[in-house]
Amino acid sequence: DKYSFNDNDVENVRVFIRVRPLRDEEKTVKNKNLLEVNHTVISLKKSDTTKTFKFARIFDENSTQMDIYRCIAVPIVQQVLQGYNGTIFAYGQSGTGKTYTMIGDIFNTDLRGIVPNIFTHIFAQISLANNDLSYAVTATYLEIYNEEIRDLLSETPQKKLALREKPELGVFVNDLIGFTVNSLGEMMEILARGNKNRATGSTKLNESSSRSHAIFAILVETKNNVTGKTTFGKLNLVDLAGSERVHKTMATGDRLKEAGKINLSLSVLANVISALVDGKSTHIPYRNSKLTRLLQDSLGGNSLTAMIAMISPNFLDSQESLYTLMYADRVK
Ligand code: ADP
Ligand code: MG
Repeated sequence: DKYSFNDNDVENVRVFIRVRPLRDEEKTVKNKNLLEVNHTVISLKKSDTTKTFKFARIFDENSTQMDIYRCIAVPIVQQVLQGYNGTIFAYGQSGTGKTYTMIGDIFNTDLRGIVPNIFTHIFAQISLANNDLSYAVTATYLEIYNEEIRDLLSETPQKKLALREKPELGVFVNDLIGFTVNSLGEMMEILARGNKNRATGSTKLNESSSRSHAIFAILVETKNNVTGKTTFGKLNLVDLAGSERVHKTMATGDRLKEAGKINLSLSVLANVISALVDGKSTHIPYRNSKLTRLLQDSLGGNSLTAMIAMISPNFLDSQESLYTLMYADRVK
């Protein structure tokens, strides 16, 4: 299996690339292939130079949802079930497959993305566990748009929620609904409901979901009935806002402000992760964006983090693909 991992290989922060397939309308004679993918190395031809980058794994256009799930998500889910925190980010230009990779088609087993595959894994694990262990699973689903937080599971998803901090709780979202989930079916319903709110909410506000970050979080509480010991593991599954640059959308006014905030939170994220990887920084700039403040307890320490940076193979997107590869390279 070309994407398999030895447990010893799993570092705390891993960065992956996924190249989506060309769409039919992109398959033209003019569309020169500028990308070369080889396991862990990816090269992109730009005019007369070639830029080469190395990552944990590059998933080419033939990779399946299951390849991604096994290689990237399984090691993290296993840690979460042991009481550690984990985060998986999908990064990239709009239209490159972030939502496809994270959610996919929840009604088609082969096309399910990371999130529904994780649900299946967690509930299978719970049903296999012996009676010494009891589990409680809680789910939350929120969106950050323009540095404003909204609850995708609320009856009033338009309402803005505040970030709070308490010494005993750390950073949390005030009034965020946490659903206790007892089965795979319930978890799928929650996901579908939040996805619907994400889509309708953005239409109402005349926004596009591509400009918001969506975070599905799963909290797994495991009680060992013999020892009485309880552990908590938290898994954050993050579909980031589209990374396209201001100059491409030629944004003005509000769009410019919004693009500025998206760029800001994505660059804060890169600063935070690279400071954690570097290990020498005494100051990690979590506080510079809502996204990193919210994820503070799941980034760094014993937490496992994976970022999947998506790129398009279309030659017309090559400048954006280069930006994405540079961003991903900065993070690792
Ligand atoms: P994003 O969330 O990054 O804006 P989407 O996930 O919505 O992008 O993907 C854009 C389109 O490309 C969708 O129609 C999606 O089904 C398709 N797509 C993306 N990645 C893949 C892939 N790996 N295989 C097949 N289709 C894909
Ligand atoms: Mg999307």
